[in-house]
Amino acid sequence: MTPRKREQLDWVSLLESILADTPSLPEAACIGRHDLFDEGQGESKDEARHRQAVAEKLCAGCPEAWRCPERTDQPTAMTEAQAS
Ligand code: SF4
Repeated sequence: MTPRKREQLDWVSLLESILADTPSLPEAACIGRHDLFDEGQGESKDEARHRQAVAEKLCAGCPEAWRCPERTDQPTAMTEAQAS
């Protein structure tokens, strides 16, 4: 096996293991809204708080929230730390 093929197989194995426990969420309200969940470059604390608040509202109304491991409408260590 060439090193390139071995590297590709390692990526496939990694993705398989990541996706194995990821539920399918076809009705997710955040589809296409990754900008709300990813920290922006040069984002100030106020901008981050606003972005997270919008994300939390989106999650609060999401029909897939009951089975989503990434929902943000629950207080997290990150949001609590940033609030102080
Ligand atoms: S609960 Fe939030 S993170 Fe999870 S699918 Fe819905 S909008 Fe996306």
